[in-house]
Parts: sequence; C-alpha cells; structure tokens
Amino acid sequence: MKLKAILTAIIIITIAIGAQAQETKPDRQRFSKPNFIIILADDLGFGDVGYTGSSQIKTPHIDALAKSGVVCTQGYVSAPVCGPSRAGLMTGRNQVNFGYDNNLGETLPQFNEDHAGLPVTEKTIADRLAALGYTNGIIGKWHLGEAAHYHPLKRGFHEFWGYLAGGHNYFQQEDDGAKYNRPIISNYKKPQPITYITDDKGDECVDFIKRHKGEPFFLYAAFNAPHAPMQALDKDLKLYKDIADEKRRTYAAMVHRLDVNVGRIVKTLKKQKIYDNTVIVFLSDNGGPDTNNGSINAPFRGRKGILLEGGIRVPFIVSYPEKLKSGTYNKAITSLDLAPTFVALAGGKTLKKDKLDGVNLYPYLSNATQDAPHETMLWRFTISAGIRKGNWKLVRLPDRLPMLFNLDKDIAEQHNVASENWDLVESMLKELGDWDVSTPHVQFLEGDKWRRNQLNLYDKKYQLTQPENE
Ligand code: CA
Repeated sequence: MKLKAILTAIIIITIAIGAQAQETKPDRQRFSKPNFIIILADDLGFGDVGYTGSSQIKTPHIDALAKSGVVCTQGYVSAPVCGPSRAGLMTGRNQVNFGYDNNLGETLPQFNEDHAGLPVTEKTIADRLAALGYTNGIIGKWHLGEAAHYHPLKRGFHEFWGYLAGGHNYFQQEDDGAKYNRPIISNYKKPQPITYITDDKGDECVDFIKRHKGEPFFLYAAFNAPHAPMQALDKDLKLYKDIADEKRRTYAAMVHRLDVNVGRIVKTLKKQKIYDNTVIVFLSDNGGPDTNNGSINAPFRGRKGILLEGGIRVPFIVSYPEKLKSGTYNKAITSLDLAPTFVALAGGKTLKKDKLDGVNLYPYLSNATQDAPHETMLWRFTISAGIRKGNWKLVRLPDRLPMLFNLDKDIAEQHNVASENWDLVESMLKELGDWDVSTPHVQFLEGDKWRRNQLNLYDKKYQLTQPENE
C-alpha cells in the first residue's frame, strides 16, 4: 500500500511538473503568434525605389521584399508630413479625430511642451500588442512628443534606442543643444557612438530580433533616411557618382544605405528561421519633399506637405510569407490599417468604442473578400483638406474652388474635372465639411511655414517621369 501511495505521488508530481513545463513553454510554440516589423522610411519619394520604377536608385532588398510580399499600389498615409502621419500610424485613428492635425510647432508663443504630443488618452499599437503578450521595441525617430508622459516607454514600448525629436544627424556630432545633435537615448544599453545612423539603427534592429526571436515581438524600425540633413557615406556616394546633381546623388546614397539595412533585417529573420512568421510592413511616412532632399514622386504630382498623391501615396509593402501569397493589392488602403491588422493577427480584438479609422487588412490582402477596405478616406493638414470616395478625389484649399480628380484615369492629377461634376463636388465637399465640424479643436498649431508655403506647392510643376539615366 505504502509503495503504491509513493508511486502514485511520484506520478502525480511528474504530471504536475510536466504540465508546468508545458505552461512555461514560449507562446510561440503554442499559438504561433506572428512577429511584426514596421520599417518606416522618412520622406522617401514614391518613385525612388526599384520596384516603383526608379532607374537611378538601386534597392535590391526592398525590391525583393516587394516581389515576395504584397505590393499595395494604393497605399496612403494619413498626413503629408512626419508628425501627424506617425500619430495616425501608431494609433490606427485618423489623427485629426484627436486634434493632431499638425507637426509639433514649437515656435509658437503658446507652445507648451506638456500638451504637444500624442495624447495619452490614445492607445498605440505597442500598447495593444503589449496587452497581448508582445515585447515591443522602437529604434529611431519618435517625434510624438518630448515631455516625459509622451515617452515611447510609456506608450507600450519596452525598449527604445533613438531620439525623441523629428530628426537626427547621420554622423556623430558634438551635443551643442541643436535638435539634430542630441545624444541617442536607450533604456537597454549605453548607446554607442554613431557611426552612420542608418547602419547603427540596422545594428540595433538585428540585435533586437536576435534577442527576442523566441517570443512574439513588435519592432518599429523608424529610420530617418532619406530625411534631411543630406549626409551620406563616401562609399555609397561613389556608387552614384554618375548623378550630376549633388543633392540627388547624396539622396540616392542615403536610400541605398536604407536598402542595405532592410536587407540585413530580412537576412536576420531568415537566419533565425522566423521570417515566414513575421509580418514586415515597409512604407514611408509621407511623400518626398522634392527640392529639399532631391526625391522624385513620379508618377505622382505633388510632394511632402500637400494632399496631391505625391504627398500621401507612398511605397507600401506587406510581407507575411506564412499566410499571404505574393502579388499586388490594388484597392486603396492606409497606414491607419496597420494597428487593427496587427491586433487581429495577434489574436486580439479592437472594439467599436476604440473609434479606429483603420480596418483589419488581412481578409482583403488574403483575398477572402473582394470588397474595398475603404469607401471614403479623409485628410486635413493646416489649411488643406481632402477626401477620396471610390476613385474620385477632391482637394479643398482656401484660395480657390475645390479641385476634383478621377484617379482611375488620371493618377498624376493633371485634369481638374470639378467643373464637369458639380453635383459630386457638392456632395464630397459636404461630407468633408461635416467631418471638419465633428472633429475636436487642434491640440497644437503648426509653425506657419507649412501654412504659408503650401499654396505655392500646389501650383508648381513636378517631375512626373523618371530622369533619363545620366
Ligand atoms: Ca517624414
């Protein structure tokens, strides 16, 4: 009897230990939750990667991702400048719906840093994924507020290597208090001196992936390339020595270095055998600011700062080898869709009360449905506003009648067809106006540069084709 009791006890303990071992196995083995990586370029011109038609700039790694993933040919961002675009991307809400129309305008007399940032009432993708057991890292540019309560480590991220401002020098500089020279901040290491920041960010991304390969993770790789200041490595400049224009040459070299680091991220995922189960989204936060950094948004008209396609339609790739077949997706989608998509793929739920403007893209990208993810899209930035319904797009400015374009026939927005479609103009203007008055007051104003300069940017000529090879 005694022996039997001991044996029974041993069996029970063994089963208990076994069950406990099962309990503590990493989530990966039980649920196969995907990892998520957002690779965000900054001020990248639409036409400046190989797969979108660049004849000058070689981006083999981004092109490979496009070839094996889903190319979203009508991928939009929710604002034509950095700050509000990132506020939308991070939350899945059109940022205008919480008063984040503008970049953080610190030059204004009423500027108060305590109220300039992503409102703490808004949940970020990282907040949502953290609640689902994810480990989240941000490497690079935050630009969603510099006060302590806006810090990324308080917004759902567990690791941060980067800077809070809207940009950074690419080479190590002395900290002279200038915004782009501030030291790198990190909570998981003593930040190394900058070699070339795009490579340093690549190093941190590779390191993050290696350290967290055994658990579900979200990595926000917020590169500043090819945003100004225009600074490139000599070895990359040599590759583009045939480009006569110095700014364009430097820009090409900066995009090249971004591409190299996209390649390093993909290679690491493959080596760690987690590539198939990782969702990688590559996009830019807004269109290229042509004359500022030498970018080209061909075939689109417009640039950073305005609501023509060149300001808001960006290179947009979604790669998820395990679940999504390679190909193209041709209906309009937006960066606001990433938050609900990630949450759904991670096994979570977003609710109506979350008031997200994005939708879960998975049923669309996997062809489970042929419906359009968005019938209507809305934009507002300082003095401009825009609405897209189906293939019609209307842009409203203070100094002229509304402009209407049929994107189905006129992707370069060359023909304003408002005068032939007044009924449509009227109904779209009404819908846009109804949205305006439903939104809260803006939380902070823009420095007046964007407000003043915008109108001229609608009138200037843009390069709508790729440059001839020199
Ligand atoms: Ca930007």
